[in-house]
Order: sequence, then C-alpha cells, then structure tokens
Amino acid sequence: MSTTAADLLGPAEIRQLADKLGVTPTKKLGQNFVHDPNTVRRIIAAADISSGDHVVEIGPGLGSLTLGLLDTAGAVTAVEIDKRLAAELPATAQWRAPAVADRLNVVTQDAMQVTAEDVAAPTALVANLPYNVSVPVLLHFLATFPTIERVLVMVQAEVADRLAAEPGSKIYGVPSVKASFYGKVKRAGSIGRHVFWPEPNIESGLVRIDRHPEDQRSWPQDAQTREQVFPVVDAAFAQRRKTLRAALGGHYGSPAQAEEALTAAGIDPKLRGEKLDVTDFVRLAGVDVAEE
Ligand code: SAM
Repeated sequence: MSTTAADLLGPAEIRQLADKLGVTPTKKLGQNFVHDPNTVRRIIAAADISSGDHVVEIGPGLGSLTLGLLDTAGAVTAVEIDKRLAAELPATAQWRAPAVADRLNVVTQDAMQVTAEDVAAPTALVANLPYNVSVPVLLHFLATFPTIERVLVMVQAEVADRLAAEPGSKIYGVPSVKASFYGKVKRAGSIGRHVFWPEPNIESGLVRIDRHPEDQRSWPQDAQTREQVFPVVDAAFAQRRKTLRAALGGHYGSPAQAEEALTAAGIDPKLRGEKLDVTDFVRLAGVDVAEE
C-alpha cells in the first residue's frame, strides 16, 4: 500500500495533538488512540480498501486511522461523538494529508443515533471501535447501511472471538449469530496493547465481515426479517444451558408450541441454541405456529 499522500501519526504527534486540544482520554468513551503507523497499515490492508470505496469510520479520535483511510479510499465519513476531536479532524487531515484532505467528511454525532440520511451509501466500515459499545454499534451500522459490503473492526480480543465463533463452540452466541445474519465473519489478526495511548488493560483483535451477496443467502436483511429472527436468537441464548424446547417456551407461548415450531423447521427440539447456525434461526423464525 502506498502512504505517499498521508503522514501517519506516531507517538510524538498523538501527544502533540492531545496537548493542543487539552484531551485527557476517557474510559467512558473508550478513548485509546493508536500511535503506531504499522498497525494502521495492517488494518487498512486487512480491509482491502481501494479508491472505489466510501469508508465510514466510527470514532476517528485524533485521526490515526482516518489518515490511512484518506490515503487509500475515494471518500471517508468519520462519525465522532467527542466534539473537540471531531472539530480538529479536518485540520489534522490538512496537516498530515493535504493532497487528500478534501475526501473527508465529519459527522459529529453518537454513532448509535446515526441514520441512513447522515452518511451517503458507504461501501465499507473500518474502525477501532469504542469497546463499551462495539457490538451494538457494529450491528446498528450493518442494519442501517445495506451498501456496506466489507467491515474491518478492531475490538476487544474476547469480543472478536465471540463475533467469529462457529456453532457448537462455547463462546458462540447472540453476537456470532447476529453478525453472521449479515455476512461471513472472520478473525483477521491480533493487536497488542503497546500500539495504543493510553495502553488498555486488554488485548485487541481484528474482525472482518464480508456481507453475504444477495444471491448467496436465502433471507432478506430488512427490518422486518430482523425483527422476526433476532428475538428468537435472543431467547435461545438467554438460557443457553436449556434445550431449545424449554428456552423458546416463553417466546412461542409454551414449550409444546416451541416444539411444534422447531419440528416444523426440521430442528431437533432437544438441541441447545449453540448448535444452530444463522440459516437454522432464519428458517425457524419463518415458521407459523397456530395459537393454542
Ligand atoms: N480511531 C481512533 C484510533 O484508532 O486512534 C480512536 C479509537 S478510540 C478506541 C474510540 C473513539 O470512539 C474515540 O475517539 C471516542 O471518542 C469515540 N466514540 C466513543 N463512543 C462513541 C459513539 N457512541 N459514537 C461515536 N464515537 C464514539
């Protein structure tokens, strides 16, 4: 990858920017800034970004990743909740990447409140996500922007493992199924603590999601389907040690009705939720069960 158009931020520039803005990173907003250009290059390479992409970045912070994205993508929209950081971002782009600074658009907002009107048809999501809201924010963006084809996010290592877990594994659960509703989920590397300022007390991991092409999935990814499928997933894992017949009793009205739905979907009612993949959940949610 060429980085000719952008000078990435190292430890000295990160401290310089933080001092200039009087920023003391807060835990509440998950503010751990990357001060290692190699990590930025790794993330961008793992995301396969090209000039055809409009990348949406959640939580640009001081701009470490944003500069790398400006260098490789056709356009970048950065969504930042912290007003001081958001306000400085265009100046940082001018300072470190003047030739491509006009590719940047900043949205000063809580990512959870972003709607389809705020960002025009992004093709990729690339972010070092704020850890405390990483999964809900990720799912919100996948739901809101059907144009996002690729996702590369840095999250807590444990969350990365859960997102990418396969059916049958102990850590397979709600985030794994919901993420695979949208696409193929894979671990894309590990990141140590030393690349951040301040250093977090946890390891991080990269996750890549490639959205299922429309002709390779049997379900629409619209709100109606989501509202049908996701409550069944939530119920199946709320009591994950129970059989599906018992765990889904509340959702279907009774264990007998749950059994009827499971059988109609061709699923053994004695199984546990952790054995089902996303296609099983979609099929099950599509079964109509008569009221008792
Ligand atoms: N991308 C930068 C980097 O890699 O150095 C910063 C990443 S830092 C882990 C997370 C960033 O997300 C912070 O800049 C924080 O202010 C921002 N943030 C936290 N909660 C947010 C939210 N709900 N919406 C948008 N941004 C948020």
